[in-house]
Amino acid sequence: MARHTPRFSPPGLASATAADVPAPPPRGARKLALATKVVHGGTPGGGVDSPVVSPIYQSVNHVQQTGTAEGMRYPRYGNNPNAEIVQRRLASLEGAEAALLLASGMGATACALLALLRPGDHLLASSWIYGGTHQLLAQEFATIGIDVTFVDPTESRAWRKRTRRETRAIFLESPVNPTCRVVDLRPISALAQELGLALVVDSTFASPINFRPIEHGADVVIQSTTKYLNGHHDAVGGAVMGTVPYIEEVRRKMAVWGQCPDPFAAWLLDRGLRTLDVRVRRQNENALRVAQWAHGRKEIRRVHYVGLPDHPDHAIGQHHLDGSGGMLAIELVGGGKAADRAVRRLKLWTHAPSLGGVDSLVCEPRYTSHSDASADARAKLGIPDGFLRLSVGLEDPADLIADLEQALR
Ligand SMILES: *Cc1c(COP(=O)(O)O)cnc(C)c1O
Repeated sequence: MARHTPRFSPPGLASATAADVPAPPPRGARKLALATKVVHGGTPGGGVDSPVVSPIYQSVNHVQQTGTAEGMRYPRYGNNPNAEIVQRRLASLEGAEAALLLASGMGATACALLALLRPGDHLLASSWIYGGTHQLLAQEFATIGIDVTFVDPTESRAWRKRTRRETRAIFLESPVNPTCRVVDLRPISALAQELGLALVVDSTFASPINFRPIEHGADVVIQSTTKYLNGHHDAVGGAVMGTVPYIEEVRRKMAVWGQCPDPFAAWLLDRGLRTLDVRVRRQNENALRVAQWAHGRKEIRRVHYVGLPDHPDHAIGQHHLDGSGGMLAIELVGGGKAADRAVRRLKLWTHAPSLGGVDSLVCEPRYTSHSDASADARAKLGIPDGFLRLSVGLEDPADLIADLEQALR
């Protein structure tokens, strides 16, 4: 018998498939703030002698009940206890019924859309999306008979014009990687609701501290947890948030396409999430300081930061975002050569892809997310040569600014 009773009872062991659904708050309970939810959301309350930090269930299999298929645990089914803790917390942070943790942001995007679309279906997608997502939609989906039309998200009438009888869903990213544009969800979610389309939003750049798309009419939220949610440059992951029946469908896709997270990656994310609120708030402050410094420098042609009043989406940001984020971009007057030179001279800013962690990073999208596009196509997307994407970390902003200053001199 003792063999069947784990020492630290993993949460939801009895109902493994529904375990990612956050328990409804007791009636009359206070609504918890995000800063509290990032610490406590989804963690099983324990009695005397229970660990404050969840143990790592680095086990592929769990002893199964006899005489039933119910309650079988296997990481690929999305019910490893470490994944379940994170899933409950993410659902609660995004204001969703349920969440599912996957192997990567790309795995999350692929499974989220495969759960909505069948061969013959049509998807409307914003043309301002992460390079990997663009490849998935433009190349891979064509091979399985899913037709995708790309729409410039600022042309609000274009969304309606491009819908067809077969259109099932709208996909967009906001804030946009790497241009830091912010898409107005209001007209798009009204259209999605009117036509009965699912609105899927990748809000990786903001994290739920700055932006919760479900509050603005989205049905599905996607996060690359590799970025802000984990926040320490040490674990890859992705998450999908939505209704309970929809997340069950995503879970089926994840299981057969094999896009599940490893328990240790889930545990690292659990740990990273606990500081999400303080990290993102500090990154908002630091990025604003860097953007204000960059604004009006003679070496810099343009600064892309939604927190600056002259940004084209400043008003939308004020409506949608609780913070302007830790991502910004600058365009150097000297073009590609000046960008390469500046990156070589930087000492504190690390030249590396990815974003959203404690270290400040710099990258040139022409060598990373948009290396597939031609220089012309990139310029059309607002990413001309000389464009540097900055992911502002947790260092002192004066040090970050001094380093940029010496590199541009
Ligand atoms: C990084 C990123 C992804 C892909 O996430 P991975 O975890 O690298 O698979 C998707 N969308 C956006 C906006 C991203 O920045």
